[in-house]
Amino acid sequence: MAESANSIHNSGQKKLAGKVAIITGGASGIGEETARLFAHHGARMVVIADIQDDLGIQVAASIGSHRCSYVRCDVTDEDQVKNLVDSTVNAHGQLDIMFSNAGILSPSDQTILDLDFSAYDRLLAVNARGMAACVKHAARSMVERRVRGSIVCTASVSASHGGLRRTDYVMSKHAVKGLMHAASAQLGAHGVRVNCVSPSGLTTPLTRAAHAAMETKELQKQYAQSSRLKGVFLTPKHVADAVLFLACGDSEFVTGHDLVVDGCFDGV
Ligand code: NAD
Repeated sequence: MAESANSIHNSGQKKLAGKVAIITGGASGIGEETARLFAHHGARMVVIADIQDDLGIQVAASIGSHRCSYVRCDVTDEDQVKNLVDSTVNAHGQLDIMFSNAGILSPSDQTILDLDFSAYDRLLAVNARGMAACVKHAARSMVERRVRGSIVCTASVSASHGGLRRTDYVMSKHAVKGLMHAASAQLGAHGVRVNCVSPSGLTTPLTRAAHAAMETKELQKQYAQSSRLKGVFLTPKHVADAVLFLACGDSEFVTGHDLVVDGCFDGV
């Protein structure tokens, strides 16, 4: 009885009160949903970093300029990532949370038989190298300022499975998981936690663009076939809830963990 009363009491709790967070890829999809959830949970400032300026500005304005701002940052450029972290710390005092989430898909559905290396280089530059740059500069800032921060990376079920297509994407997400394992081991001594969240397929602008010929409902149904859990479609809110858990004090002793949000994935 006491436990249930406590959980009811905690449902209105602001889990990120006073925290400063950066969300890369925050203008759209999972990142946008997470920006809204972080602000709802009392984050002092959520900095959306993206390359879609109009959308990023619009999302930040809809959350409110006192809680959310937009900074243009292409994560493939390490100087821009460093400037993003430095400008956030200069403006808001410190960085508590980095949600490194920006990612892309290859334009084509290739298998290893026709892997295109210019598309491969572009994808790895965003999904693996860009992710590492964000972890590096967030961690440097947290270690220098002795902030017991939380870093969350968006991996994917593709980080732990193969795939019938998109070899480069599968490789990039395995790299994200490797990055998370290495960084969490190295940063534990500084009190900095590093985890990742691994969704299965869900409809966002990313996947809708890749399956432009399909209706959203049709795409949802296709993704649902890969989960053993039935009766629910994965949404950005489900992923944002998992990110919130990893970002806030509820996961104080959780680091080096890949939190799958996949309804028990039953794919390749
Ligand atoms: P999305 O396209 O809605 O959001 C991705 C955002 O990243 C976009 O706003 C885009 O502008 C931004 N971005 C792309 N390249 C960038 C760069 N170089 N620098 C800064 N920002 C950049 O897609 P989403 O589905 O919300 O994807 C978010 C993350 O979730 C990605 O890492 C993706 O790989 C991962 N993911 C998505 C799914 C899915 O099915 N949608 C499943 C598993 C993992």
